[in-house]
Amino acid sequence: MECLCGSKRDFEACCGAIIKGTKVAQTPEELMRSRYSAYVLADGDYLVKSATKENRYESDIALIEEFCKNVKWLKLELLHVKCPLDVSENGSDGIVEFKAYYLENSEIVLLHERSSFVKIDGVWEYDKGVFINSKIERNEPCPCGSGIKYKKCKKHLMAY
Ligand SMILES: [Zn+2]
Ligand SMILES: [Zn+2]
Repeated sequence: MECLCGSKRDFEACCGAIIKGTKVAQTPEELMRSRYSAYVLADGDYLVKSATKENRYESDIALIEEFCKNVKWLKLELLHVKCPLDVSENGSDGIVEFKAYYLENSEIVLLHERSSFVKIDGVWEYDKGVFINSKIERNEPCPCGSGIKYKKCKKHLMAY
């Protein structure tokens, strides 16, 4: 199976191993991708576990899973990745800016976020995200993957 994060790699070798815990994310980008895949899989446990201790709320697990089951994730676009050269150092941080699209009640929702990650004891953790206000351009290809311009696309309305 092709990975859910859109890397075109095999799921098991990409996000699958990181979610399962058989592989450690080597970069903030890998962790970010695995978290997106976990959203697609509605894996609330992993999403909470991969956050920093201060942001780990067990009570979020059910909420995340509930949300994920009601939406259909369409795609992930990585826009900007900033990672320090020496990532071996403790307390290093990295930033990944991305756009993720999902379908909710036949509407495509764009989530544009700049996430920060910190490396704690050799493991990258998700620290926090800042939302960026943006919208899907009417003339851009529809995020549902139909190949039709967003303003003209009705394909995703039929996805359910
Ligand atoms: Zn992946
Ligand atoms: Zn569409």
